[in-house]
Amino acid sequence: MGTALKLGHVCQYARCTGRRLLSSTQGTTALPYDVIVVGGGHAGTEAACAAARMGVQTLLVTHKFETIGEMSCNPSFGGIGKGHLMKEIDALDGVCARICDKSGIQYRILNKKKGPAVWGPRAQIDRMLYKKHIQEEVKTTANLAIEVSPVEDLILKTATHPSHDLMKQECCGVKLGDGKEIYSKTVILTAGTFLRGSINIGLDVIPAGRLGDQPAIGLAKSIENAGFTMGRLKTGTPPRLDGKTIDFSKTEIKYGDDPPEPFSFINDQVWLKASDQVICHMTRTNERVDRICMETLHLNRHVHEEVNGPR
Ligand SMILES: Cc1cc2nc3c(=O)[nH]c(=O)nc-3n(C[C@H](O)[C@H](O)[C@H](O)COP(=O)(O)OP(=O)(O)OC[C@H]3O[C@@H](n4cnc5c(N)ncnc54)[C@H](O)[C@@H]3O)c2cc1C
Repeated sequence: MGTALKLGHVCQYARCTGRRLLSSTQGTTALPYDVIVVGGGHAGTEAACAAARMGVQTLLVTHKFETIGEMSCNPSFGGIGKGHLMKEIDALDGVCARICDKSGIQYRILNKKKGPAVWGPRAQIDRMLYKKHIQEEVKTTANLAIEVSPVEDLILKTATHPSHDLMKQECCGVKLGDGKEIYSKTVILTAGTFLRGSINIGLDVIPAGRLGDQPAIGLAKSIENAGFTMGRLKTGTPPRLDGKTIDFSKTEIKYGDDPPEPFSFINDQVWLKASDQVICHMTRTNERVDRICMETLHLNRHVHEEVNGPR
């Protein structure tokens, strides 16, 4: 739909600078931004907020306002590895850890019986709350504007100060779905699973950025035209189970920590009481499940055809 948010909305979503007003009223941008971030997922919201915190004029361009901060897969954050990453970003005043402290429904430090090097902070998150809070954060961050639109192309020019023989071109802006061009000194791409993405369900292949979202075809082409080779990584989605079909008496109960430990160094406590945390239930596969999986592998393209990726 091109620029889905008209000027009034755009101004509402972030503090509007003269620079942004100019770009919105003229159809094409007159003044460049310092930074354009493409994609409002986890990486994009961190990148956009980080740039804006440094005091530079930043524009976040993303498909839909309502999917900013969408949790695509598991409704959880952290664990060993990712939990450490979140802490490191938090130490740089990142947003994710703080928002997790406002939207978690169960907090646990994994591996607590082992040494501190392998402790992994992990929280089950209410994905609606997470989105609500992160959208609020992005809306109210100074120096950060939001443009709701697909980015279809990158604007490239001959590199003025190449730092390498192979550096022939540099990116100086983006072209939106409606043809509007927005210029900037730096463009950061955080398109997640969207670049010519597809979903495999059984033997069906559906072009999609993720369920319910179109893939980013134009931007993928643009990256290829710029000389980059595109590869594909594979995600694995945990099955969604209907709670009414589960016999919870046969599962192992996992309680949240008491007290729940916040993700962010800035917080002394999380938003909910220890006793208000939800209970998690754990179960294990058995030989019968193994057999069913092995017997139906041929019905699962995800496993037997798509071999790329870390999983
Ligand atoms: C079903 C599913 C299951 C997954 N399971 C796991 C898992 O178990 N573990 C794991 O680590 N990861 C998993 N992932 C990957 C998951 O997407 C990433 O971990 C995480 O979301 C990446 O964050 P991101 O910010 O890079 O991208 P995303 O969260 O994908 O965000 C990308 C954003 O960019 C926007 N965008 C993309 N292209 C354009 C464009 N051209 N113009 C404008 N906006 C654009 C999109 O609208 C979106 O808002 C899964 C993904 C899916 C879809």
